[in-house]
Amino acid sequence: MEIRITKITPEKRKPIPTDESQLGFGKKFTDHFFNMKYHEDRGWYDPVIEPYRDISLDPTALCLHYGQLIFEGLKAYHGKGGEIYLFRPLENLKRMNASAERLCMPTVDPDLFLEAIKKLVILDKQWLPKGQGTSLYIRPTMIATEAALGVHEANAYLFFIVIGPVGAYYTEGFSPTKIYVSEDYVRSVKGGIGYCKAAGNYAASLYASKIAMKKGYTQVLWLDAVERKYVEEVGTSNIFFRIGDELITSPLTGSILPGVTRDSVIQMARSWGMQVSERPLSMDEILAALTKGTLREAFASGTAAIVSPVGQMFYKGTDHIINEGKIGSLTERLYNEILQIQYGEKEDPFGWRIRIH
Ligand SMILES: *Cc1c(COP(=O)(O)O)cnc(C)c1O
Repeated sequence: MEIRITKITPEKRKPIPTDESQLGFGKKFTDHFFNMKYHEDRGWYDPVIEPYRDISLDPTALCLHYGQLIFEGLKAYHGKGGEIYLFRPLENLKRMNASAERLCMPTVDPDLFLEAIKKLVILDKQWLPKGQGTSLYIRPTMIATEAALGVHEANAYLFFIVIGPVGAYYTEGFSPTKIYVSEDYVRSVKGGIGYCKAAGNYAASLYASKIAMKKGYTQVLWLDAVERKYVEEVGTSNIFFRIGDELITSPLTGSILPGVTRDSVIQMARSWGMQVSERPLSMDEILAALTKGTLREAFASGTAAIVSPVGQMFYKGTDHIINEGKIGSLTERLYNEILQIQYGEKEDPFGWRIRIH
């Protein structure tokens, strides 16, 4: 399928933000977006890149009522010589298709997915910020558009991709976060849709996040929904604890989002000879390690920040300080190495980086 391109007329172009320190996240989007439609009788059709605009939906469009809505998040990075890179984009497509399958939505062809991202990013490449740590965020999304009430699998969908410049996550160096272990609320349960980037998971997470923020914490640490004993994720990131010589993260049991960064951290740490375990890790084990002094560092992983150190953890009425509230050596090393691969500043022995321009 050929992607048709309709360019914006010059006088309609939006001003490109010039102060990259003010970009923040998710506030600015470029002049164009990609979209294509699906109907069960014809498959995907009409792939187009066109001027950014509102989309119109019938008020009974199924995504608005029963939540068939999935998305992805990845970034394009600006290299020093003007190159443009993507980081493991096909992992995002694989995950999107896994989400699609679980929510009874159609899958997308890898070549078309990559082509759409490449063409869109290159068309709006003047929007790609150049400052350290900045990037162009890419948000592929799929929604059910069939107009009909009654819970059922939709017969029509819209897939679209919007892109926008985002600022550096760390503007003044690493700042370790304070996390709040939620005992009362859970994000997801084994057998549910926790492993999908599906809108409903985020709606379910807001209330506990609000409580945590009110109490002065940055993020919620989610425990498993059944025993409320094992750590699962933190906010919208995966979580790692370094205890003694072991780096531990929760196994992918179905309630956890399989992060691309999580997988990159695991592969990279293993390539350095570290022992990395994907195994259940209980709060009791973490507290015991804290008492013994063997809990060396903890960090969250995700596309937004790469890795984000955890300096403090609230659990059952007590605040626990991790690594004296400072960034750990492994956290820092992983951050630097992954960042340099993403921006084309060093060799990529894993084959993660794709140059698109
Ligand atoms: C997106 C996301 C992550 C991180 O995934 P990456 O692919 O590393 O960005 C982790 N947990 C949740 C709940 C997420 O939504």
